[in-house]
Amino acid sequence: MTIITAAAQAHVSAGPGLLGWVAIAIAALVVRVLVVLVSTTGRCRKCRGRKITTSRDGTRARTCPRCKGAGRRPRVGSALIHRMIWDGEIGDKILAGQRDRNRQRREDRAGR
Ligand SMILES: [Zn+2]
Repeated sequence: MTIITAAAQAHVSAGPGLLGWVAIAIAALVVRVLVVLVSTTGRCRKCRGRKITTSRDGTRARTCPRCKGAGRRPRVGSALIHRMIWDGEIGDKILAGQRDRNRQRREDRAGR
């Protein structure tokens, strides 16, 4: 038995296995989706949220070109995830609920 096959066998027996990895991947994906839903933007990685970039010697500062001075960048997949939700059935239900609530509020105000 070579070292490589021994290591491979050790890895298979010690590791979570294929199904385990799939479960981990799904869990990571779910966490990612939740994070994107809660916070659609992340700190700009180029300027680290400082909104300006400095030249290499640190003498000149200018507006961060990547976030254009916003200091924040949309998270990867946020547009896709939000489009999926707001264009899908879930979004329709949420929007319908909001419309109902708004109508209720208007009627309350008109009745008073
Ligand atoms: Zn930036």
